[in-house]
Amino acid sequence: MYCELALYIDGRFIPAGPGRMSEPVLNPATGDTLAELPHATAAELDEALAAAQRAFPAWAATSPLERSNILRRAAILLRERMGDHARILTLEQGKPLAESRGELTHSAELLEWYAEEGRRIYGRVVAGRAPGLEHVVLHEPVGPCAAFTPWNFPSLTPARKVAGALAAGCTVILKAAEETPGTAVELMRALHDAGLPKGCAQLVFGNPAEVSAHLIAAPAIRKISFTGSTAVGKHLMKLAADGVKRSTMELGGNAPVIVCADADYDLAMATLAAGKFRNAGQVCVSPARFFVHESLVDRFVRDVAARAGALKLGAGTDADTQMGPLANARRVEAMERFVADAQTRGGTVLTGGARHGNVGNFFAPTVVTGLDQDALLFSDECFGPIMPVQPFASLDEAIEGANAVEAGLAGYAFTTGLSNAHRIMHGVQTGMIGINSLTVSTPETPFGGIKESGYGSEGGLEGLQAYLNTKLATLG
Ligand code: NAD
Repeated sequence: MYCELALYIDGRFIPAGPGRMSEPVLNPATGDTLAELPHATAAELDEALAAAQRAFPAWAATSPLERSNILRRAAILLRERMGDHARILTLEQGKPLAESRGELTHSAELLEWYAEEGRRIYGRVVAGRAPGLEHVVLHEPVGPCAAFTPWNFPSLTPARKVAGALAAGCTVILKAAEETPGTAVELMRALHDAGLPKGCAQLVFGNPAEVSAHLIAAPAIRKISFTGSTAVGKHLMKLAADGVKRSTMELGGNAPVIVCADADYDLAMATLAAGKFRNAGQVCVSPARFFVHESLVDRFVRDVAARAGALKLGAGTDADTQMGPLANARRVEAMERFVADAQTRGGTVLTGGARHGNVGNFFAPTVVTGLDQDALLFSDECFGPIMPVQPFASLDEAIEGANAVEAGLAGYAFTTGLSNAHRIMHGVQTGMIGINSLTVSTPETPFGGIKESGYGSEGGLEGLQAYLNTKLATLG
């Protein structure tokens, strides 16, 4: 049903066992324990660091073609094992099986993209200013990396970081989320079975704050990559600063959505009603703050509340489930706080607004109106299935509202007007903007935020550059 959980250090899988610290992994749809997750001891973290450091010179010197072959073999294994992996992912995280298969396909595609792009790490030659003088610009792998990933996309986020590092010639230690470890274990199994040399990738679990402090302080680690909340990201940036270590930070979003008066209404409704509740809204680029033109807003909230209220909630393993549980009990409590704040401010809950059922972490898809910018649902990231909707009169007002938060990850708009599209594309302060589309995450394109949503990109050419140092050699 589930899988055997383990650490993966220097090519060895280390399962839970007597005398070892561990924690239970829970099924968010039922509250049942799926398995015990072993924690790494401090000595094992040091072993992982030593292994990553030992393996680095040979892996950096391995031809890009050979590195590419291993990553492509791992992608083939992920595709072959998709049925089992999707079940593991759904059991530990909650999302419907179809969404798990989509995530795993994206993970395999990331491995394939980096496998190909890693073969195109080119330098350049610049003519010098004196006869015979030549400058050569080289791109070299930064060294052993530490990666930290959250529970909302337990396969995709590790795949992005690990594939980028390995394709560039770096070795890596991944600390995946303790709540959703099985998919990360299976990613390591695919890399192992594909012939990845020992020490090139390790997987550890433990107390997140202790593990990250240990790894980031280690001189062996030259780069860190984190996906998670802005608060934790700020803490890790400070730790990285002590060692002047490069970092990529994918932090929280709070994506604005502007639905203009000239929007293709049916497209906007179908796209947003489905996109908002994907993964129960636990997506950093999830549409979060809805600004709908005053001429459309009444029809919009009526239609979207009807669609949200009709969604079938259930365990992700049930074939007819459209929205699964939230990933953990903390998230249900957070949703209750957002709704309580909205109600004290006079907001109107059109559908949902409360926990669903008595078993598991289910929260009803919710639509709220009648709030201003000070409501928590507009100022903070809710990271769940709640849709706050506000009317606007002019596009300037909507863009101002969109930019009124510290987050700047993704933004969206629906319009058929070229002039509106241009104003929104340039005016909304985010790292990614989708106009008439929510597609902002593909292997080929850079994914990342600005402002308090972090810095650096993953995916695209930029995702590979993030694991490379630029070096100048002058030949006289
Ligand atoms: P959290 O901040 O406690 O944890 C987020 C993730 O960071 C978890 O996977 C956790 O294991 C890890 N983490 C926590 N402290 C860490 C540390 N000191 N070192 C390394 N890793 C650490 O939040 P949470 O309750 O799990 O989630 C709530 C918020 O986190 C959400 O509201 C959302 O804003 C954010 N989040 C963002 C993403 C994303 O994709 N950007 C994903 C998950 C959660």
